[in-house]
Amino acid sequence: MATVGKANLSAKLVLLGDMGAGKSSLVLRFVKGQFVEFQESTIGAAFFSQTLAVSDATVKFEIWDTAVSAAAAIVVYDITRMESFERAKKWVQELQKQGNTNMVTALAGNKCDLEEKRMVVTEEACTYADENGLLFMETSAKTAINVNDIFYEIARRLPRAQPAQQPAGMVLADRPAERSQISTCCS
Ligand code: GDP
Ligand code: MG
Repeated sequence: MATVGKANLSAKLVLLGDMGAGKSSLVLRFVKGQFVEFQESTIGAAFFSQTLAVSDATVKFEIWDTAVSAAAAIVVYDITRMESFERAKKWVQELQKQGNTNMVTALAGNKCDLEEKRMVVTEEACTYADENGLLFMETSAKTAINVNDIFYEIARRLPRAQPAQQPAGMVLADRPAERSQISTCCS
């Protein structure tokens, strides 16, 4: 079999969600492996980048706080605040209105370390995510649970064809999007 190197992808990713849901904290955990208890609130146009290798590709995430022309989005809510879940649904609607069907969208129920303060039931969020074609995980920027994993699953689902970055004449087998075989919460 011909050796085809891993694809090198670059993907713009945006985090959306209620103030205080933990967007900056998830990015800080993913990019720097850190958590701060009193995260200062954002920071104009924050920009970070981080590279992840998945089996068939190396993905460089460029993480922005605006949704314009993003390839991927993580909509974040705080599992201890029902309003933040309702806000998250509004963000999902907004994204759906933009009609970018190629966008990989994930729903993150953040602060899952605060189980004793939980207000949003896992199954409810999971069912909502299934109905809306979203990847879903409960995360904690504090303990790092599912933080790398959510970015990793997004990286796996990004469209592989990026003609501009492929050597001329090379034909890439375009794999169909793998539909959630990972078990997140529903099982
Ligand atoms: P943003 O407004 O969505 O960017 O939220 P921040 O990242 O600024 O986080 C808001 C607050 O929640 C900060 O005090 C964080 O320390 C805290 N926080 C963020 N993620 C978590 C988490 O997973 N668990 C806990 N316990 N606190 C978190
Ligand atoms: Mg922030």
